[in-house]
Amino acid sequence: MKILKHKSVAAAPVSPKDDPWDPIVSLREFGHHVLTSVELTVTNLCNMRCEHCAVGDSLVLKEPEQIPLDLILRRLDEVEHLRTISITGGEPTFRKQMVDEKIVPILKYAKERGIRSQINSNLTLDYERYEKLLPYLDVMHISFNYTNEQDFYEVGFANSGHPVKKEVASKLYHAMMENSRKLSEAGMYISAESMINYRTHDKLPMIHKLITEMGCQRHEVHPMYASNFAKGLPVLSLNEMRQAIHSLLDERNKEIWMLFGTLPFYACNDNEADRALLKRLRQEPMVTVRNDPDGRNRVNVNMFTGDVFVTDFADIPSFGNVHEEGLDDIFAKWLNDHPLNQKVNCYCEAASCCGPNLLVADMYYKDIDFKSRKAITL
Ligand code: SF4
Repeated sequence: MKILKHKSVAAAPVSPKDDPWDPIVSLREFGHHVLTSVELTVTNLCNMRCEHCAVGDSLVLKEPEQIPLDLILRRLDEVEHLRTISITGGEPTFRKQMVDEKIVPILKYAKERGIRSQINSNLTLDYERYEKLLPYLDVMHISFNYTNEQDFYEVGFANSGHPVKKEVASKLYHAMMENSRKLSEAGMYISAESMINYRTHDKLPMIHKLITEMGCQRHEVHPMYASNFAKGLPVLSLNEMRQAIHSLLDERNKEIWMLFGTLPFYACNDNEADRALLKRLRQEPMVTVRNDPDGRNRVNVNMFTGDVFVTDFADIPSFGNVHEEGLDDIFAKWLNDHPLNQKVNCYCEAASCCGPNLLVADMYYKDIDFKSRKAITL
């Protein structure tokens, strides 16, 4: 299969100064949003059933055949400004065959084209399947919301629908920690993501400490929003979220990159506490706030149907299919014609902000017209 038509260019490691997933990078370069990022949903199988799982409703026990890999690679190859690929699930490595026949070829393609790659994994399975990704992968992205194995047990199997023995959960917890340490030592860049939610908001410094002990090079922090599985969970107030972020900034290890994303605080808010927090986030070393890629510079492709979505977890219906059209064309329709995008596609260079996430706008800013707002100088 000869797909690659692009020249091979080696990509440098990601860093606080170079985060190619942030849509503001290409917005500045091209003067408008372009598709630079594609997320591929490669499975809906998973060995866990997390309380907060953004795609919990889609998880299954058996799944159908995928669409041909060469169609996916051809569609990726057509994307003119492609810079990043994310592989997600489920647990993408759940089946070894998936690792060998889909994930490794996709990562090889990305590497040859100089595109940065990320995979979202729970890292609880055997080391060998993750080791196979080492030569190609840029970012191993894991979830970590725990202070001990009891937290992991309560969170990780909350939706399993049948009893899971504590010993089973404990084994997976230790496998995840051990895999993280070993893979980091072998040179894999591991980014651990924590959610700010009703369980974690007062434990973030402890969670952060464990993440650093696991050898992770980046700690990603996002508030948890009510999507699918998480719909029934208690929601934090904005004040609790602000306090959680301040406490983490106070106690963090300043050598580790902290990446905040999908925050519900904007520089156009006239709330003093929001602006003080944004100012602090700007001034702290090794801290970045990423604009949300979903629908800005990224689409999600379902590898079973070929349907294209704005993200893998929102309730917004698909707006294209790779059997029928190229991804740049599908993205252009979303960008120019979709009414939902028109509601949030604002941009304030002074605040390095390109608008709120759709879910956040819907949850906290229902009646706000962001297009009529401007950042207040920080
Ligand atoms: S880009 Fe939009 S959300 Fe961000 S500060 Fe400006 S008006 Fe507010």
